[in-house]
Amino acid sequence: MKYHKLITKRVGLALEKSSPAHLYVHLPFCLSRCSYCAFPSVAVNEVPEKEYLAALLREFRFRRNCRRETIAPLETLYFGGGTPSLFSVDFFAEIIDFFADKIGFVVDPELTLEANPADIEIAKITGYLAAGINRISLGAQTFSPVGLRLLGRRHSAAQIGRAVAVLRQAKVENLSLDLIYAWPGQIIADLLFDLQSLTALSPEHVSAYTLSLEPGCQLTKAVAAGNLPPVDEDSQLEMMALLEDNLDKAGLYRYEVSNFARSLSLQSRHNLAYWQLKDFIGLGAGACGGRHCPETAAHRVERYRNTGDPYLYMQELQQPGFISVNEDCNTESWSEQEFVSDESSFSEALMLGLRLRKGLDLACLENEYGYKKVDRLISKARLLCAEGLLVIDKNRLRITDSGLCLTDTIINHLL
Ligand code: SF4
Repeated sequence: MKYHKLITKRVGLALEKSSPAHLYVHLPFCLSRCSYCAFPSVAVNEVPEKEYLAALLREFRFRRNCRRETIAPLETLYFGGGTPSLFSVDFFAEIIDFFADKIGFVVDPELTLEANPADIEIAKITGYLAAGINRISLGAQTFSPVGLRLLGRRHSAAQIGRAVAVLRQAKVENLSLDLIYAWPGQIIADLLFDLQSLTALSPEHVSAYTLSLEPGCQLTKAVAAGNLPPVDEDSQLEMMALLEDNLDKAGLYRYEVSNFARSLSLQSRHNLAYWQLKDFIGLGAGACGGRHCPETAAHRVERYRNTGDPYLYMQELQQPGFISVNEDCNTESWSEQEFVSDESSFSEALMLGLRLRKGLDLACLENEYGYKKVDRLISKARLLCAEGLLVIDKNRLRITDSGLCLTDTIINHLL
C-alpha cells in the first residue's frame, strides 16, 4: 500500500497546478510475436527491466528539463505494450512512485496496465494494485481455440476465464477486455460464441476491433498467398452489427466506434484524451507524444515518435552525460519530430471526433479552428444529413446509427 498512499499524499500538490496531463509508457517486450502484430515490440526470454526503467526515467527528465515540456499532474497513466504484465511489481511501484514524486496525480486518476491472461497471478495483481494500478486491460482477443492459434496468442481460452476470476478476487473493479473479430475463417457463429463468453465475464469495458491486416505481418502474408480466407465486407458489417446488439443487451453501450463501456465513468479516460486531441506525453521505445503550440503561427501541434528499437533506445539514453549533452534538444538518433499544420490538425480532430458516438462539438471546433473551416464542414455534411447518415443535434455533428458502418466513407467525404 506504500505507493498508493504516496499518490494520495501528492494530491494536494497536484491540485495547486494547472490542467491535468496524460502519460503513456510503452513497454515493448513480449515472450513471442503474434501473427497479426504491427506494434513496436520485440520477443525476449527475459525483460531487461532495470536498464529499461533507467532509460524511461532519463527520457522523462530529458523531456521535462531539456524540452521544457509542461508536465501537469497526471489524470491518466497508461502502461501499454508489448506485454506490460511481464514486468514485476517492483518495476511499477518504482515508476509510479517516481511520477507521484515528480509531478503528482489528480484526485481519482486512471492508471491502466495491459495484461496477457497467461500472466495473471494473484500475488502479482495484488502487488500491481498496491503500486497504484486501478484499471486492467486484458488481451482476450477471442475465446476460440482455433482463433487463438491463428492469431498466435500465447494464452488459451480457459486462461481468460481463470484470469478474470483472479482479477476479481484481487478486487479489480475496472476491467477492460480486448476482442479481435473478422479474423480469417471466422464465421458468425464464432463471433456469437465469443460475445457470449465475453459478456458472461461482466467486464466494465470492451475494446473490439476488426482484424487489421498490416503489411509485413505473418497473417497478412498468409492471406495474400491464398492460404487463409479473409472475411468479406458484408460479413464484417454483419459482425459489427451483432457486436453492438449483443454488447448493448449486456449493458455495455458504444461510446466510440470500437469501444463500449458500462457507464460514463467507466469509459477509457486515457483513450478519450487521444480522441479529443489533448496533449500527451509518451515515454519508451515506440512511444509518441504531442502538444499544441498556440504560440507558433506556422504549425498547431508538435509531435515526436521514439525509435521502435528498444535496444537503440536504451543505448542512446544510457550514454554518460546524456541529459547535458542533449540540452540543445538533439534527439535525431532516437526520436523523430514532426510539426502538424492547422489544416492537418483540423482533419485529425474531425476523424477522431466523429468516431465518438456523441460526435463533434461544433462550438469548440469553431473556437479552435475558426468559423470558415467549420462552415465549410457543415456545408459538406448537409448532403449526408439528408441521407440520414449524419445529424446535427444541439450543436454537435455526429454519425447516426445507420451511418456507423460507413464511418470511414463518411469521414473521407467530409475531409
Ligand atoms: S502481445 Fe501485442 S505487442 Fe506482443 S506480439 Fe502480440 S500483438 Fe504484438
